[in-house]
Amino acid sequence: MNDVFGDAAPYWDRLESAAQSLLRGYGYHEIRLPLLERTELFKRSIGVETDVVQKEMYTFDSRGNTSLTLRPEATASCVRACITHGLLHNQRQRLWYRGPMFRYERPQKGRYRQFHQIGAEAFGFVGPDVDAELIFLSARLWRVLGLENLSLQINSLGTPESRLVYRERLVDYLNAQKKLLDEDSRKRLQVNPMRILDSKNPDMQEVISGAPRITDYLDEESANHFGTLKTLLTDADVAYTVNPKLVRGLDYYTRTVFEWETDQLGAQGAVCSGGRYDGLVEQLGGKPTPAIGWALGIERLVELMQMADSAIDTGAPDVYFVMVGDAAMQVGLSLSEQLRDRLPDLRLWNHCGGGSFKSQLRAADRSGARLALILGDSEVERSVVAIKPLRSDDAQASCSWGELGERVAAFLT
Ligand code: ATP
Ligand code: MG
Repeated sequence: MNDVFGDAAPYWDRLESAAQSLLRGYGYHEIRLPLLERTELFKRSIGVETDVVQKEMYTFDSRGNTSLTLRPEATASCVRACITHGLLHNQRQRLWYRGPMFRYERPQKGRYRQFHQIGAEAFGFVGPDVDAELIFLSARLWRVLGLENLSLQINSLGTPESRLVYRERLVDYLNAQKKLLDEDSRKRLQVNPMRILDSKNPDMQEVISGAPRITDYLDEESANHFGTLKTLLTDADVAYTVNPKLVRGLDYYTRTVFEWETDQLGAQGAVCSGGRYDGLVEQLGGKPTPAIGWALGIERLVELMQMADSAIDTGAPDVYFVMVGDAAMQVGLSLSEQLRDRLPDLRLWNHCGGGSFKSQLRAADRSGARLALILGDSEVERSVVAIKPLRSDDAQASCSWGELGERVAAFLT
């Protein structure tokens, strides 16, 4: 679990505000969800046999002896909220959320126990138009952030029925190869055989590449859905690879699944993953409602942004106010409030805590401000402020208190 501060913080800000603005632009509304839910919710949605539920959840008994869990992801919470508030009665919803998720994982670079996601969910759309829209939205976000080299993998898991048929074929195949399976995969063979396809063990890759492909078992409607999605992506120039081994870790996915990956972060290459979960709303007690969403991992994307050295707003002020002496401090603080009234977006740092001209001017320079305002006893006596450009050779000027707002505004535009 990390503290985020210093140089990293502006990157978080940049990512969050870019995502927020795009999501709004596409018609998604923000939903703020609690960090705690009843444990049942995650067992019923993510699936009892998944790694997340088996090994990764922070679960505890609350005072009333209810079992609660720190959310490992927010799709289930989002569905729960929609059902609680009747948000899906005869209506569609496009929603997004952001915030911390908690998984008891083995900590390593890019894999944390508290990590942060931004996610988008669309309810009530059968697709594949909205499937494509959600992918376009994520692709646009990478462009806005200046991230190149992210690659998109897609797959279709079909319907629960077609998946069952595939699952049997897969189990037959894997059983015949049992000698070649590692221990983990042998365990998975019983409970969650499709996750074997996800194995990162190099010794397993040969068995896996010979396995039957789920895309060969799709029902007609799922196959058409997938075909149209591919056309829509191609039409929009969004490059993709079909990866029949992409099965995703959570049980609730149907039809479309996808993942954005990078090869710049070592083993933790997935930066955004998602998929369709047409059965989940009903499974959690709502009316049958098709749905699809994705979630991106903020830590991994911030890491990429830092590597790409994306232009970032470091938060430097426009103006640094130097005030030397008690009289200057008294006048200066009131002038700076007047400046803020006049220019509400102004970034203005007061030098609090006193000190010499020299030390205050050094602090002004370090702040990155474009302009220093300087007030000492002699300026106070004459009712003026000295204005000193810090990033150019322009000469220092002086102006009356009444003109200050106008002069600063003129200088900054
Ligand atoms: P992975 O294969 O890396 O374990 P996942 O399939 O478990 O990822 P999802 O549950 O789909 O991931 O979450 C969506 C995104 O959240 C991932 O693509 C990743 O960027 C990020 N993410 C997931 N788990 C972590 C973690 N423990 N630490 C940091 N980021 C994470
Ligand atoms: Mg995981």
